[in-house]
Amino acid sequence: MTDTPEQERINAGLKRIRTFRKSLGVIVLGFIPVVYLLYLLELDEWLFMSLGVAWVCLGVVIELVIGFSRCPACRGYFHVRGMTGNIFARKCMNCGVPLKPQV
Ligand SMILES: [Zn+2]
Repeated sequence: MTDTPEQERINAGLKRIRTFRKSLGVIVLGFIPVVYLLYLLELDEWLFMSLGVAWVCLGVVIELVIGFSRCPACRGYFHVRGMTGNIFARKCMNCGVPLKPQV
């Protein structure tokens, strides 16, 4: 079965959102190991703090990108509906298209 160009566009958009969510997971779960690794390297305090802050800033930027990502199907914000937002939503909060393709 081949997907229509419209379905392929939607799948590509959903894959992009999934990739950003995985990246955020890596940033969050990797924080402690990275900080520990930097600690073991015995860097100067200012460099240690700068790298730690940069790591957190990277996570915040990715979180903002995820929060403002548009649903490829309805063009609304995927994780926001009205004044309600849920960055862990597995479906579009506006049209309900699932983030993972149905099996
Ligand atoms: Zn949608």
